[in-house]
Amino acid sequence: MSEALMSTYARQDLAFERGEGSYLYTADGRRYLDFGSGIAVTALGHSHPRLVKALQEQAARLWHVSNLYKSPEQEELAAKLVAHSFADKAFFCNSGGEANEGAVKIARKYWAAKGKPEKYRVITFDGAFHGRTLAMLSATNNKKYLEGFGPKVEGFDHVPLNDLKAVKAAITPETAAIMVEPIQGEGGIRVVPTDVLRALRQICDENDLLLILDEVQTGMGRTGKLFAYEWADIEPDIMSLAKGLGGGMPIGAVLATDEACSGMAPGTHGTTFGGNILAVTAANAVLDVMLEPGFFDGVQRRSSYFRQQLAMLSDRYPDLIEEVRGQGFLLALKTRIPNGDFQAALRDEHVLGVTAGDNTVRLMPALTIPEKDLAEGISRIEAACRRLQGQMQAEAAK
Ligand code: PLP
Repeated sequence: MSEALMSTYARQDLAFERGEGSYLYTADGRRYLDFGSGIAVTALGHSHPRLVKALQEQAARLWHVSNLYKSPEQEELAAKLVAHSFADKAFFCNSGGEANEGAVKIARKYWAAKGKPEKYRVITFDGAFHGRTLAMLSATNNKKYLEGFGPKVEGFDHVPLNDLKAVKAAITPETAAIMVEPIQGEGGIRVVPTDVLRALRQICDENDLLLILDEVQTGMGRTGKLFAYEWADIEPDIMSLAKGLGGGMPIGAVLATDEACSGMAPGTHGTTFGGNILAVTAANAVLDVMLEPGFFDGVQRRSSYFRQQLAMLSDRYPDLIEEVRGQGFLLALKTRIPNGDFQAALRDEHVLGVTAGDNTVRLMPALTIPEKDLAEGISRIEAACRRLQGQMQAEAAK
């Protein structure tokens, strides 16, 4: 059957039939602890009763009407996102890459509408990942992903991460915006310190640039606050979201201030599926759960416990784990052995992690994961470390 699927993924020989909370189950009843959350997507775990109920009720009522008509569901979601963020307006799309395309279009249009169409370039950072569309490949600037897809889309300038001097040197009269992930996800959970985020905000203010935050991976509570920028006490002009927003339903969003999206008149941007009622219904339910009092306190408390336990593991297995990185439940182990081998050892212990750049394995449990599931995860990760260490010692003794 798999012969009919285009071979764009190196899939594991492993399929799941059912999910509940932090666990995934195979058809023959094997149980895996899901620390990948579908690459940071299933923010409330699997089969969350509030999401299931909301979707079941909506599925029986209405699925899709297009963006030709008013959408009370989209209006509700936009109002909630705006009320809890820097933004004045939201636009809904289907994915992170699309949200970033929208963000860059909004920034370019802003300057064009102000009579400065020459300001269209965006500064991005080495190690970034902004998506797989042609423009976002160019924004991402990863050779491996660009190879064979023709000339790069014009308009992106790349500088080393956290290098403010390089950022300033890259600004020209054509620069429209700076785009950055508060924590680089696919790049290997490389954190942008809060003082660097603040400095980027200041550079934008001083040079008349828009600040675009790509919070596709960091947003929706992943770092322990609804949006990662809140840790730095700054506000962007434009922000992209996706992944956790729909709790597993595909939806992306671009949020912007009134000023930043002032160029976006009817007809300037659009999508057939974006803001689809089922996806928006899921996102409304996700937000309702996250906005309940104490939700983020719980995420911060349980994620600090998890991080502490991981730090203790890295102390016990220094030949295997170089560093624990990240914030909240967006964590990674930088491993001293190939990260794919470490990930495979975790899988053998029925723990699912996701590899990322810089030889890391990401651990991104559901934000709702109870402490007992985290404790079980730690003991399984330790079992994987013990086995890997034993193999290394046996190799060395040969
Ligand atoms: N931006 C960031 C920070 C991401 O982590 C990703 C996906 O990993 C994307 C954009 C692209 O999102 P999507 O795969 O939904 O297009």
